[in-house]
Amino acid sequence: MITDEEKRRKFVCVDPHDIPIVSFIDANMMASMPASLKAATGLDALTHAIEGFTTKGAWELADMLHLKAIEIISRSLRDSVAGHAVGVEAMALGQYVAGMGLSNVGVGLVHGMAHPLGVFYDTPHGVANAILLPHIMAFMLTTPAINSARLPLQCASRVHKRCRSRKRGKPPFPP
Ligand SMILES: [Zn+2]
Repeated sequence: MITDEEKRRKFVCVDPHDIPIVSFIDANMMASMPASLKAATGLDALTHAIEGFTTKGAWELADMLHLKAIEIISRSLRDSVAGHAVGVEAMALGQYVAGMGLSNVGVGLVHGMAHPLGVFYDTPHGVANAILLPHIMAFMLTTPAINSARLPLQCASRVHKRCRSRKRGKPPFPP
């Protein structure tokens, strides 16, 4: 991600030479993150999965990654924010799976609107996504092209609301 401060915009440059050959996902490195940062980055990862699932470039193989990422993140984000090691470990996996999906199909409206919020107001990326995600999802669900994605999106929306309400003790999805 590159920020052009003069033109006040953020943009992404992608080239095969800037893609790592190997990466290490170490949940121990996430353990000391403040809860607010875990929440913001976790909702960014959830946004990657949802937007990857609904973007124009979505297709079956990428859908598998995005649906699995939505499932993992939805059941793990609250525990991760609460500092439970199992939740942090699962979020490390969930964000990685979401990243594998989005790197094939890109993201969508939430990221498109979140980047200007970061440039103009210094809003952290994950916070901007978290603010915009429910509104963009509500809009997307009114479009015929997204109707087939309605059920998983509703599940994700419910989890997002439960994360915000900070209620505990119920699984994010009904059994
Ligand atoms: Zn993002």
